[in-house]
Amino acid sequence: MKKLLLFDIDGTLLTTDGASGRAFESALIDVYGTAGPIGEVSFAGKTDPQIAYELLEHAEIPRSVVKAGLEDLWNRYLKHFDNELLSHIVRPFPGVVECLNHIESKTGQALLGLLTGNIEPGAQRKLDASGLGFSRFQVGAFGSDSENRDELPMIAAARAKALVGEHPECETLVIVGDTPADISCGKVVGARTIAVATGVYSRFQLEECCPDFLFDSLENTDLVWDAMIR
Ligand SMILES: [Mg+2]
Repeated sequence: MKKLLLFDIDGTLLTTDGASGRAFESALIDVYGTAGPIGEVSFAGKTDPQIAYELLEHAEIPRSVVKAGLEDLWNRYLKHFDNELLSHIVRPFPGVVECLNHIESKTGQALLGLLTGNIEPGAQRKLDASGLGFSRFQVGAFGSDSENRDELPMIAAARAKALVGEHPECETLVIVGDTPADISCGKVVGARTIAVATGVYSRFQLEECCPDFLFDSLENTDLVWDAMIR
């Protein structure tokens, strides 16, 4: 069975330099009249619905009210994000282009996938705006599939089965991400975990979560490939 390589997006493949956070804040205010304590709460490693529930809980908005507004929230978020993208550059991190190209050159050995807290159309916009391209990812699990990141590896695995006809064994799953939440969602299912310190968490903080591999960046293509595939 091929390896199923599941990449996180923000902090791992690229940065929007705050553009998606601003769009999220504007959308929350449009729909709920408040963005809660948005400046004090980290988005890192969380799914989009998880962030909305968490912020609005602080504002004492009942969960049922938040849930009823989510579809509207995503529509507003995407509109605000599209506006941000008119004047804003989304940058891939150093080495990411080379890393993804290398994986694609090894078609027999790995499926390229996403595992991200972004809602799917948000993921698509970020990857397309960065030039990395959304459509090259063969499999994905998104914040729009579950509020709980720990459920996303098995959703990605089920989609891989639909694609290749065989359910991937847990040991063929490889989760690549920049936060403790990426590492722990991989550990829940016995996946290999690769942490990269290009997001807000330091190498030291990630080390404490005991990922199988830890890199400062994805720049050393050969070492990263070896960690994913060996
Ligand atoms: Mg991330």
